Amino acid sequence: MTNVTKTYFPDINEYIIQLNRIWANQWLTNRGELVLELENRLKSFLKTDNIIVMNNGTIPIQIALKLLGNNGEVITTPFSYIATTSSIIWENCKPIFVDIDKDHLTIDEDKIEEAITNKTTAILATHVFGNPCNVAVIERIAQKYSLKVIYDAAHSFGVKYLGESIFNYGDVSTCSFHATKIFHTGEGGAVFCKNEELRNKLYYSHNFGHNGPSSFFGLGINAKISELQAAMGIVVLDHIDEIFNGRKDIVAFYDENIKFDKLSKMKIREGTEWNNSYYPIIFQSEKELSNVQTKLNEIGIFPRRYFYPSLNTIEFVNGKSMKISESVSSRILCLPLSHQIEDSILELISSTINNSIW
Ligand SMILES: *Cc1c(COP(=O)(O)O)cnc(C)c1O
Repeated sequence: MTNVTKTYFPDINEYIIQLNRIWANQWLTNRGELVLELENRLKSFLKTDNIIVMNNGTIPIQIALKLLGNNGEVITTPFSYIATTSSIIWENCKPIFVDIDKDHLTIDEDKIEEAITNKTTAILATHVFGNPCNVAVIERIAQKYSLKVIYDAAHSFGVKYLGESIFNYGDVSTCSFHATKIFHTGEGGAVFCKNEELRNKLYYSHNFGHNGPSSFFGLGINAKISELQAAMGIVVLDHIDEIFNGRKDIVAFYDENIKFDKLSKMKIREGTEWNNSYYPIIFQSEKELSNVQTKLNEIGIFPRRYFYPSLNTIEFVNGKSMKISESVSSRILCLPLSHQIEDSILELISSTINNSIW
């Protein structure tokens, strides 16, 4: 069976070495030695100004919205994982959808201004599949209307844009270290923020608001990650080159072997050093997609319809119609992509696609 993603499992003995450190310390959580080490190593690997590692990739979005969303309208993309939209609703803000750019699949920056009202407080956009939003235009709009910018960068581990970590853009960026993502801690995530004052708020918010054992800066929640998860992160990070290289080879294989005459691909934004996080292909019709999906399923290959349905159409979301997102959503399929897939399987995937749409 080949699934759309495959979790990277390091050699268990390498994990045990890290567990031994935890047992020696007799310290399991509350930002122990391994969490601090992981943060430092990630900061230098990613070349970001700072980082707070958390327990998943959704909580940092929620904390950022709690601090910056102010119960207002939040402009967002309909083409992302449900966590992007549900976080807005969860924080008592209102998602205002802006359709996507059909080439890059990120929020269409040219349609943002017309969605702004006097209730708008923030923009929450996703660098979908690790493809950067048009951060320069979004920044300009945000300054003009005094809006905050939060990037859901869950897919963007290792992405550079104009020579800099994508996490350094926006007021806040978040990432997910879920087991299905490129770099993982089992469950985990992180928040990135350049502004020192806001960083401090994010920091205390993730630890119940504590300012010492019996005093508080303000309202908080528990978003701390444990030493056990940090241990996994440390070991996975030791193998990050192998993970990136494996993915690059698989993407190169698909690029060379799939016939794209009747299919299209997402366009990576110019100036991006991409991370090969997903391999979406876009069919001409949903019928073609279903046909290929069925044929792949029959031979034990399970691509996934990321992202379907378009988030504006979900019942509890109840957003306005979004033509491009709904159309792309119904026709896009992510092929299996991980650090390692056998050549014979890759050949089977490519030939099944090529034979089904000709
Ligand atoms: C995975 C993902 C999240 C959620 O991350 P978790 O670590 O699973 O909480 C949020 N947004 C996007 C776009 C994602 O793909």
